[in-house]
Amino acid sequence: MAMRHDAVIIGSGFGGIGMAIRLKRAGVRDLVVLEKADDLGGTWRDNTYPGAACDVPSHLYSFSFEPKTDWTRRFPPQPEILDYLRHCAREHGVLPLIRFGTEVTEARFDQERGLWRVSTTGGELEAPVLISACGQLNRPELPAIEGRGDFAGPSFHTARWDHGADLRGKRVAVVGTGASAVQVVPEIAAEAASVRLFQRSAPYVIDKPDRPYRRWERAALRAVPGLHALSRAKTYAAYELRALGFVKYPVLMRALERRFRRSLDGQVADPRLREALVPGYPMGCKRILISNDFYPALSRPDVELVTSPITRITPAGIETRSGTHPVDVIIYATGFRATEFLAPMKITGLDGRELNEAWRDGAQAHLGITVSGFPNLFLLYGPYTNLGHNSIIYMLESQFRYVTGCVEAMRRAGLAWIDVRPDVQDAFTREMRERLRSTVWDAGCESWYMTADGTVVNNWPGFTFAYRRATRRPDPRHFRARRLPPHT
Ligand SMILES: Cc1cc2nc3c(=O)[nH]c(=O)nc-3n(C[C@H](O)[C@H](O)[C@H](O)COP(=O)(O)OP(=O)(O)OC[C@H]3O[C@@H](n4cnc5c(N)ncnc54)[C@H](O)[C@@H]3O)c2cc1C
Repeated sequence: MAMRHDAVIIGSGFGGIGMAIRLKRAGVRDLVVLEKADDLGGTWRDNTYPGAACDVPSHLYSFSFEPKTDWTRRFPPQPEILDYLRHCAREHGVLPLIRFGTEVTEARFDQERGLWRVSTTGGELEAPVLISACGQLNRPELPAIEGRGDFAGPSFHTARWDHGADLRGKRVAVVGTGASAVQVVPEIAAEAASVRLFQRSAPYVIDKPDRPYRRWERAALRAVPGLHALSRAKTYAAYELRALGFVKYPVLMRALERRFRRSLDGQVADPRLREALVPGYPMGCKRILISNDFYPALSRPDVELVTSPITRITPAGIETRSGTHPVDVIIYATGFRATEFLAPMKITGLDGRELNEAWRDGAQAHLGITVSGFPNLFLLYGPYTNLGHNSIIYMLESQFRYVTGCVEAMRRAGLAWIDVRPDVQDAFTREMRERLRSTVWDAGCESWYMTADGTVVNNWPGFTFAYRRATRRPDPRHFRARRLPPHT
């Protein structure tokens, strides 16, 4: 028989852990977090490649309700972020709620009983509330290049780093020039015999204002009330200002463009290399990257930037339109399947309707959280909630509050389920699509924010404080509701 719980959360990254903490605080006692991997951490468990780090300072890229004053540096490395998340799970009693090695394969809403029936690799569960905290960047994307499986040496994705592969003295190929490549190339260039970086389009890379925190600074952050909050607020305001450039006044990108030019011109002496590193699309259309050592690494004699398109992979290396590159190891820094959201889970809502079918024309969810026809299903970091300019944790916290508000409202009113009205969801989607059309993300580049047909479905086209205001509390007029039968 299926075990019954009050709420089931899928995923134990920042989203799942934070949501569990907030629901526990709201008095939801019988909670379970299902995690397909053997450890918690999501992004910060999976991305263990050398140089992995956050692009947002950790005073901001952390929970507001669990401030940490002893980060070693402004942009700490991945192990420190993972440790922080472990600490949060332990400290707030979430660790015992997590069922590791349990992948959700299917969820079906039983509308008579008002319960989600959740099928996992470890059996069946039931709960009135189902929360997906699967993230947008959880499933690695490997490129469809002919012969990829034929390569004779080690090859792996940055999010599945093979720590057994010794790169010392090896000829290494890195495919892709996104955020992970920019972090990993300087690290491996120092130990490999040579690195070839295969670039399809150049990224905008600006300087990274990183530095270690001094001992006295950490002591002051601990001792002086309000100092940590002030540092967080200052960082928040500085990052939030950038939204103006992304979504409203692209002309404001000029300041960042100047920073990019300064980095490139100051760090790359070879004019041909410099030219190859100038992106052919407006700044911000793809994620803006930060690094102080990427351009210097590309200027090393043992690092080569290859811009000719890859045609084939052979057992011995990579072939491009203009030549052959024999290598010993291939690293794919090719990103994630970001627009598929809850895939490959099969989610069935009211009247047997499948989420895949409902999302045929791209993912839709009111405020990125609720999907019409799928009662009591809540998405965290869902469609239209990714950012180009600020911390995802801030968006997640807005969603925790909204979901908790829905759960509390149902409890108060004795409701079995709530379902967002289709017209409310449609109006939200129309507004998002309309507003996204005038943003820099829709300005003529291909990015991971887009579906195959070129629709931007990942990003929030505004200020994060506006999103917080919109998600402050659920509006009962937005939902259809079903009461609990009298005997329950
Ligand atoms: C390399 C990298 C760098 C990043 N840097 C930044 C940054 O600088 N700033 C920023 O704001 N954001 C950044 N992000 C985005 C980052 O993903 C989010 O900030 C945040 O970590 C998302 O947390 P999450 O819990 O929503 O998702 P995730 O961390 O992806 O966690 C999802 C969890 O769900 C589990 N799961 C998925 N499907 C199932 C299933 N069917 N059954 C059971 N479990 C399942 C996964 O195993 C995983 O543990 C970065 C992402 C990457 C990949």
